[in-house]
Amino acid sequence: MLTLIKQATVFAPRILGVCDVLIAGGRIVQIDNKIDIQGSQLSLEVVDAQGRYLVPGYVDSLVHTTGGGGEGGFNTRTPELDFFDAVRGGVTTLVGALGTDASTRSLGDLFGKAKALTNDGLSCYMYTGSYELPIKTLTGNLRNDIMFIDPVIGVGELAIADHRSSQPTANELARIAADARVGGLLSGKSGIVMIHVGDSSRALDLLFQVQRDFDVKLSQFYPTHINRSTSLLDHGIEFTKGGGTIDFTASTTEHILKMGELRASHALALALEKGAPDHSLTISSDAQGSLPHFDEHGNLDGLDIGSIASIHDEWVRAVVDHNVSIPNALAAATRNPARVLGLSHKGGIAVGKDADLNLLEPSSFTIDSVMCRGKWLMRSEKIVAKTAFHYTRR
Ligand code: ZN
Repeated sequence: MLTLIKQATVFAPRILGVCDVLIAGGRIVQIDNKIDIQGSQLSLEVVDAQGRYLVPGYVDSLVHTTGGGGEGGFNTRTPELDFFDAVRGGVTTLVGALGTDASTRSLGDLFGKAKALTNDGLSCYMYTGSYELPIKTLTGNLRNDIMFIDPVIGVGELAIADHRSSQPTANELARIAADARVGGLLSGKSGIVMIHVGDSSRALDLLFQVQRDFDVKLSQFYPTHINRSTSLLDHGIEFTKGGGTIDFTASTTEHILKMGELRASHALALALEKGAPDHSLTISSDAQGSLPHFDEHGNLDGLDIGSIASIHDEWVRAVVDHNVSIPNALAAATRNPARVLGLSHKGGIAVGKDADLNLLEPSSFTIDSVMCRGKWLMRSEKIVAKTAFHYTRR
């Protein structure tokens, strides 16, 4: 089966202009101004995409695929990710993580969910570990988890600068970074250490300290929630200038924004303005994480749940509200996270890469169609993918 997408305006994420894109065997096999296939014995689907944008499927580097939260008691544990929400949000590659709770949640569950999402048609990976130390693993050893377990590409989200963290020392963090790095080197994976950064004024101090005192580079760490405040953003920009990559969280609420958080789109625009290298900035959804709401006395009075659709909303908002170029905004949701995660076949439109593609309506940026590994999951805003539960869950 061949698919030929004709005359779309292609952002790879850099602009390629109006092109035809040919897909075979789940991969992109040709990109040209005009591709004509005649007398083919193979079945061919031709898609007229004139006037549409063709962009890479989004790469979401932090999703609580099996649910998160629970910080207001067991009834505040959030539900797991719905496959169809990821499809509607244009996310074709994602990385699952545990969070604060690695007691009622398990890595086994995270592994099963990664396999299920991949079977259903997405590409899902996972981090071993959680917020806490000593690190919980599947095999009893961090390096072995990365080397022997297929969807495990790194470790995280390990918490620092947060009252919910295990308060790791620089020594402990250096050991974890070294183990993850060697596991990654030996298995050809990224071995990245995803770091949850809380709201303590210590910010990224611990990461800079590890870099100073040990043979560990800043690029070994991938700190997230850097749009939590302007002061954390400034630390983050410094981090990128030292060779690291930072991540902004797209899921938020008006309540959290009022408390000083910046929208991911705004943080992206500010970071670019202040000279952060454009390849060093990413946006993830933190989907299924809990977003607490507090009353005027500081008591928890309800929760929202992070949404995987936020990654699309925020890169588009960066373009529409903050004048970031389409390639730069899109790179934060595609090429840049794919690079940090070591997924060289993801996050771009180029010959040889997986055919993970979103077709967008250019006036509204609405997601019209979604393809992952050459298979359509959504066409003309209608889900066409099927899961084992599609009769009950669509
Ligand atoms: Zn987090």
